[in-house]
Amino acid sequence: MSDLKTVLDHIEGSRDEIIQVQGELTGRVALGPDNGGSGEHEKTAYIRGLLEALGPDRIQEIHAPDERADGGYRPNLIAMWKGKQESPTVWVLSHSDVVPPGDLSLWDSDPYTVKVEGDRIVGRGVEDNQHGFVSSYLALKCILDSGQDLERPVGLVVVADEETGSRYGLAYVLAHYRELFSPRDLIIVPDAGNEDGAMIEVAEKSMLWLRFTVTGRQCHASTPDKGKNSLSGAARAILALEQLADRFDLSDPLFSPPRSTFAPTKKEANVPNINTIPGKDVFYMDCRVLPQYPVAQIISASREIAGRVAEQTGLQVDVDVAQCQEAAPPTSVEALVVTELAKAIKAVTGREGRPMGIGGGTVAAFFREHGLPAAVWSTCPDTAHQPNEFCRISDVITDAKIFACVYQGRRP
Ligand SMILES: [Zn+2]
Repeated sequence: MSDLKTVLDHIEGSRDEIIQVQGELTGRVALGPDNGGSGEHEKTAYIRGLLEALGPDRIQEIHAPDERADGGYRPNLIAMWKGKQESPTVWVLSHSDVVPPGDLSLWDSDPYTVKVEGDRIVGRGVEDNQHGFVSSYLALKCILDSGQDLERPVGLVVVADEETGSRYGLAYVLAHYRELFSPRDLIIVPDAGNEDGAMIEVAEKSMLWLRFTVTGRQCHASTPDKGKNSLSGAARAILALEQLADRFDLSDPLFSPPRSTFAPTKKEANVPNINTIPGKDVFYMDCRVLPQYPVAQIISASREIAGRVAEQTGLQVDVDVAQCQEAAPPTSVEALVVTELAKAIKAVTGREGRPMGIGGGTVAAFFREHGLPAAVWSTCPDTAHQPNEFCRISDVITDAKIFACVYQGRRP
């Protein structure tokens, strides 16, 4: 039996340990101050104990000052193990914090006490992001418990504050300890994924939320000519903005959908009664823009279109930015982290790993902004932030096997 096969068999038999660790993690509620909590201290201390038991060559807590939290800081943890080979380090980053459970009546059980139903573990945080920590930790533990040498250097990073902006989490770690990471390293962020575990996220679209304020003049609806109808103007503007899709029509097959999208979404209430011509209407557009286009181009094109509608209607149409997140440069599909992950996925599940771009933002963007190639990947049912959040024990086992192959740079 090959060495790696022994490790994978060991992982396969880890069901009870996965349930136990998930239970301990879930019971240590890690809510940041923005979510009404005092920080991630208790959970991080438990994780530190698990990692210290694996004899790391270096372990360090990085405290991001936050006077609202216990002790005046948010805890971030880094542990490293030397490998046998001189090779790039495999980093796995997970986050300790969770989001609140929300409406408790939507839960079938206590969110902070895990419930096991066959292959499922139910509880707040079991997928987001304990699945990522447990699978990456289990892979390392099973290699070391089998008495084998670790081939590649491995670093496990557990950060705070992922759910509320990362200012006290990865952004802080990279601002102060950027030199820990090299562009040659393999950086994996198991914080999003899909059910077959074949999606390797390497790129993100820019996110731009625009607010359009249409101002006219309110009057009685029986004499509409005395006013200027802002709702008709908003309708014209919404239709005119469809031009954005034609003007910014690049297609990139890495993404699904492959184009930039410009969706009108929210509309604020205007007048409360039917017999009044509204004098002010506010609506919003959610734009997900391919990284090939600077968002400034979208903003100025939107203003130009709105200006034309204003000219045609005699209304005032103001455009402002409600939120904007310019995409970080994508991770190359040829980066070692992508090719090694794809090889390991193929070896363990038989599936072809697919590098992809997504419309939303992940914490990997912080690495990419620092020129570090990060890939987001995991096998998960995507129940993050939902009531009755669950993870599949079989997915944790599969992902641990994939991590073990990447750590060892080998296939079974
Ligand atoms: Zn997460």
